[in-house]
Amino acid sequence: MVGMAELESMNLANQLIRIGLRLSIVRSMTRLGTRILRQWWKEAHGVSPVNGKLPESVLSFIKDKSTASRLSAFAGMHQLIYGTELTAKSLLTTWREFQQICGPLDINAAYFAARDVKARIVVLSRCPKCNATYIYDAGSKHTDHCPFCDSMMIPS
Ligand SMILES: [Zn+2]
Repeated sequence: MVGMAELESMNLANQLIRIGLRLSIVRSMTRLGTRILRQWWKEAHGVSPVNGKLPESVLSFIKDKSTASRLSAFAGMHQLIYGTELTAKSLLTTWREFQQICGPLDINAAYFAARDVKARIVVLSRCPKCNATYIYDAGSKHTDHCPFCDSMMIPS
């Protein structure tokens, strides 16, 4: 007998696998077994899941102004709706909403954006010029200023 909470987890895991979220992330978010998750991946994608190392942070996905602004927008949206909560459901719901408004976004990049803001690996800063929130990190030319207006002001 499967309880309602477990059924909900299985449903969310299945949907996250279909849209390509890495299995180790799905596993940590849903606490389901590796065997069933690997089987679902194979059914959904026709190939076995890759076992490679995960990126260290959202910064690995930020390659230019466009990815900086899209991932900033996603992180801001997730924080606005869910605060510091990050669950399979919050990720999937926000990602769907985001895609309806802004177009395609890699679910893995989306996960790291929400996770790293929550874990304070990166800071969501507010631009004093255009008032948008964006992922601030001093270590990259794509994240050391607002990607929306390209303002070079130092965030407070
Ligand atoms: Zn700005």
